[in-house]
Amino acid sequence: MSQPVALGTPSVRTQEWRRPTREGKRYFVRTFGCQMNEHDSERIAGLFEADGMRPAESVGEADVVFVNTCTIRENADNRLYGTLGHLKSVKDASPGSRLVVGGCAAQKDRDLVRDRAPWVDVVLGTHNLDRILALLDHAEEWGPVTEILDEPVGAVASDLPTRREQQHAAWVSIQTGCNNTCTFCIVPSVRGQEISRRPGDVIREVRALAADGVLEVTLLGQNVNTYGRDLALDGKRSPIFADLLRRVGEVDGIERVRFTSPHPADMKEDVALAMAETPAVCEQLHLPLQSGSRRILSRMHRGYTPERFLERLAMMREHVPDLTVSTDIIVGFPGETEEDFQATLDVVGEARFDSAFMFIFSPRPGTAAAGLEDEFIDPDVVQERFQRLLALQSGISREQNEGWVGRELSALSEGPSEKDPNRTTMRTRGGRLLHVDGDVPEGTFADVRVDGAATFYLTGSLL
Ligand code: SF4
Repeated sequence: MSQPVALGTPSVRTQEWRRPTREGKRYFVRTFGCQMNEHDSERIAGLFEADGMRPAESVGEADVVFVNTCTIRENADNRLYGTLGHLKSVKDASPGSRLVVGGCAAQKDRDLVRDRAPWVDVVLGTHNLDRILALLDHAEEWGPVTEILDEPVGAVASDLPTRREQQHAAWVSIQTGCNNTCTFCIVPSVRGQEISRRPGDVIREVRALAADGVLEVTLLGQNVNTYGRDLALDGKRSPIFADLLRRVGEVDGIERVRFTSPHPADMKEDVALAMAETPAVCEQLHLPLQSGSRRILSRMHRGYTPERFLERLAMMREHVPDLTVSTDIIVGFPGETEEDFQATLDVVGEARFDSAFMFIFSPRPGTAAAGLEDEFIDPDVVQERFQRLLALQSGISREQNEGWVGRELSALSEGPSEKDPNRTTMRTRGGRLLHVDGDVPEGTFADVRVDGAATFYLTGSLL
């Protein structure tokens, strides 16, 4: 096997728009992590298809396997190396196949991925996904290759072909990177500084999606409410997220607009008003709390207090009736006392989130919080706190869902339920899962009466 080659930063970003060279070959994409990664995977799949490939049912049948990695939590790292170990045996059974590793763990760990899994053909980072075909060509010709750029070259890629998982819904990237310095978070170092796409480019993409039959778009960014700050031109105010939301909501054919994630410190009334005044913008908000303790929030560098968080949430709910709110919470941040944790429980009780993504703190090498080893919390204590939070939030989620029983609403079908093909899985405007008996084709709206509620979903009958 030849040595990995670091190609360095290409001075000119060449697009691989060329005749398909892998006609008839098959690809498989495995994605870890967040919606940003899922969206990137759709672009990778789009590039593979532009190169003549089609999807394989399993890794064993694939000529090219792409693993899109995440590094946000320790668990994701462990799963990655487990997956790469398994893929070695797949590759041994099919020596002509190619294995590509991209995404955040590849960006952060660069040499580590190759050291621990030398059978990987291509390692690429988060800033050069569009180079994947050129790098595959290189690997086929010369052997394993690694290309990690420290920062993006040029503007946010917007013109990559994309293969969507759902025909009626699409993600639209409006911004990459993050300028914040949350002490637990690795994102700024793997995704770089904040870069906004120009509004005209976003709107053009949304129009093209609508022309392609897309009804619902989700605008993606690490901190959407600071969208546009980097686009200020001399003497003119920069584009702002609230304006973009209104413009996207006005695109003909787009029935639903969602976005993720805003930052509580930057959440202003203009976004609430844009949501309230733009019919297509859904009543859904993901507002990450992280902790309810003023002291811990300060140590996390979150830039808000629990009181400010609750005020902003109340402001959003005042302007947007029926707002469905989800959040993220970290349990066991270094130095978290029982009193700090109790403050989190208090805020959760008061905020009454509809759902919450709850995580146990795991130190990410390279972050400030990873250096606080002396203050790491006993895992048994963290586990016990986590269970208390889970019990509290589960009860609230169920009660919030029960509040919808008896109401009639319009829901959008996502196709047959995975568990029961005689049922259809639908999504409310607030983003709640809603299961109904019967068959509603994917991408079709139907009126539903809600007649049951569980912790994570509603059940209903077609009207
Ligand atoms: S806002 Fe904080 S948690 Fe979110 S991506 Fe930026 S640094 Fe990470």
